[in-house]
Amino acid sequence: MIYISTGIVALIIIGYLFSRKQKVPDLGVGTNELDTLLIQHVAFYKKLSDTDKKSFLSRASDFLSYVRIEGVGLTPEPLDRALVAASAIIPIFAFEGWRYPNITNVILYPDTFNQEFQYEGADRNTLGMVGTGAMNGQMLLSQKGLRAGFSADDGHNTGIHEFVHLLDKTDGNTDGKPEYLLDEHHLTPWVRLMHREMQRIASGKSDIDAYAMTNEAEFFAVISEYFFEKPAKLKEKHPELYELLEEMFNGNRNEE
Ligand SMILES: [Zn+2]
Repeated sequence: MIYISTGIVALIIIGYLFSRKQKVPDLGVGTNELDTLLIQHVAFYKKLSDTDKKSFLSRASDFLSYVRIEGVGLTPEPLDRALVAASAIIPIFAFEGWRYPNITNVILYPDTFNQEFQYEGADRNTLGMVGTGAMNGQMLLSQKGLRAGFSADDGHNTGIHEFVHLLDKTDGNTDGKPEYLLDEHHLTPWVRLMHREMQRIASGKSDIDAYAMTNEAEFFAVISEYFFEKPAKLKEKHPELYELLEEMFNGNRNEE
């Protein structure tokens, strides 16, 4: 009798451990490795306080638990997972506990995409794209573009660019007017500032990447790359734009 019940208990324990093991999602990168990779490659992360690093790490791991990172013609490396997660978390780091409701997969391509993917929503030389229609919930990213984005704080970052589009899309429209992030009092000045700066770019008087002239959605994504990679320079050169971006991305967090 004792043997039987011991056997049952053992089976229950094994079953429990097995089910627990099954439930832990495979992030494709361990937490310690993720921390190391972020310190080595992501300047935004490196500059955070220890407390904020911990929080960023947990948000990045959480992101990797609900979004699949896949590769076409490549096997995603731990570095790619770390950089995709960093691109996702940087724009939403100030929104505690917030998750992207509109993404399930990130698909990495070695370089730029094939022509078949060059439809609405495709970016500069198709380095990245947020899927629409049948491709809803998917993001395509060039592995080369993703890595290049984090290689220098030069104001260009494909990963951040695409996740800002995704954030913009949360209110239903990828239109450069993130209604979740700006109240109506700020929305009008924001649109006015965007148009003014687009004209300055057109007349060659702005240091902002000319791709921002494409439309308001691209302006928002391009200026956000600038904001997250070179905040001090943006503040100096474009104080009004900086202030509204600060309001959008940091909200009440950085009130001084
Ligand atoms: Zn874009």
